[in-house]
Amino acid sequence: MNQRTPRHSNAVRHFLIAAAAAVFGIVPAPMLFHPLTRAGEADRQTAPRREAHALWAHPPDAGRNAEAVHQFVNQCRRANIDTIVILVKGMNGEIYWPSRRFPQAVVKGFESFDMLGALVREAHAQEIKVDAWLCDFVEGQNGMAYREHPEWAQLNPGGKTTASETLGAQRRPYPYVWMCPARRPGYTDQWLLPMIEEIATNYAVDSIHHDYVRYPGDVAPDSYCFCDYCLKQIPRHAMLSYETRPDERYRVTPAQERIEANWWSDPTMIPANWQERDRREMADYLLNGRTIPGGPPDMRYFFYNYRVRQIDAFAREAWELIQQINKTKGAKIGISAAVFKNPIQSARFIGQQWGAWTPWISVFMPMTYRSHFAGSFDAYLDHLAETTARQLEWIGDEKPVYAGIATTYLFREEWQPLDDLRDRASELKALAATDAAARDGKVKAIGTGYEPLRPRLAKIAPDREIQLSRSIAALKADATAAAIDELLKLMTQLRNDPPPGYLPVEKLTRSIEAARKARPNGIAIFAAGSLTREKLWPALEAGFRE
Ligand SMILES: [Zn+2]
Repeated sequence: MNQRTPRHSNAVRHFLIAAAAAVFGIVPAPMLFHPLTRAGEADRQTAPRREAHALWAHPPDAGRNAEAVHQFVNQCRRANIDTIVILVKGMNGEIYWPSRRFPQAVVKGFESFDMLGALVREAHAQEIKVDAWLCDFVEGQNGMAYREHPEWAQLNPGGKTTASETLGAQRRPYPYVWMCPARRPGYTDQWLLPMIEEIATNYAVDSIHHDYVRYPGDVAPDSYCFCDYCLKQIPRHAMLSYETRPDERYRVTPAQERIEANWWSDPTMIPANWQERDRREMADYLLNGRTIPGGPPDMRYFFYNYRVRQIDAFAREAWELIQQINKTKGAKIGISAAVFKNPIQSARFIGQQWGAWTPWISVFMPMTYRSHFAGSFDAYLDHLAETTARQLEWIGDEKPVYAGIATTYLFREEWQPLDDLRDRASELKALAATDAAARDGKVKAIGTGYEPLRPRLAKIAPDREIQLSRSIAALKADATAAAIDELLKLMTQLRNDPPPGYLPVEKLTRSIEAARKARPNGIAIFAAGSLTREKLWPALEAGFRE
């Protein structure tokens, strides 16, 4: 799979210096790769090398019949895509292949039409690879794994699942239940690995693709997992006491002046009354306790270390399972992974230390999406190039890295005013009819929020501008439920079907060019559905032209 010629480590340094120079405007960016003359670098530049192109796709993109799959693969071929990463297990635990082992989780319609089988046949006929994409540790509240095995769910210090959490200032409900990666027997070995085994055994896929291969990150990253199993295992993992003399307690021997310098004097850290504590107290100790009395509150180091180890263990087990299947089948199935942009930070926040996964992953696809960066679009282009260069450095050339770009987030400037308007309209709808002052405020905010959008819309889609202006005028005259619904409907239409010209499509090609400055092994685009919705296929075809 387009293995890059190994790079001399000096070349990495040269690149970074050159990249930094380009970022700070010392050397123009296009010159980046030409003045470097070291041997390894020269080889790499003359060696024939093809940039890989991957595309994440959801089942509706591939379609529900053979003809739709055929059309989709043709579209991918035109855009010079060489790997389709197709979702087969979604965030609600639903699956999209006619599973014999987990028929209860198969989405209706996909038990009769074997989308994955059809896609693999069609794609291979056009020399396109197919990766089977699983949302690993996330399941829905109504997902079959959680319904059948609620005891496999991750628990917070209050003994609740992630579905008890909320998102954002609006405290939106969080419908997902994360499953405990550590517990054995449990979700990992009884559900997730058997699913991977079934796919790899029965389909000629090119890779299994990990996603959500981590702990929850957008809700309460420090609150999971404190299930009964983990409450036993975290102290055992760090060996905070001895199992052979469980009641023995040793204090720190203060031989050294600096208190933390006495760590090796063999203190037993777990409190004597550990078993009498409840879940909240145990979790509080594991997060906020001190390894050395009088030292810093550093106990959580072991909690983070434990979590990293659980996700590592799964990545290794999945890899070993695939190797076994490859041996039996005489196949060469690999494992790719969607990971967060920075493995050092994601190790701390979500247990995802992917820089250490090179033995178990064939291709890394970091999600270097704009949604994970603050700043302007131009700043993002620099951040994308710099971050991709760092990712290559973290992986140290051992395995291919594809720069992951999500199209939707590129258009923050274009989508934000629309999303704000839609939020104000929804808030207005939720207000009581008697709350006149608040309702007035929302109507005014909708009026002012529309102003910056108006001239652009009038220019590219005058009909739709008139429709929207009328709808807002009607709302100002009388904010009835029907008037609000009409505006919401128009906003949704605009979001799902923006008029040509509304989105500056060159943002996609410019992002691809920015990622290329770091010379990744490939570029991965998220996702097929948004390319269609945002009418970006022609831009992608141009960006990925040989
Ligand atoms: Zn657990």
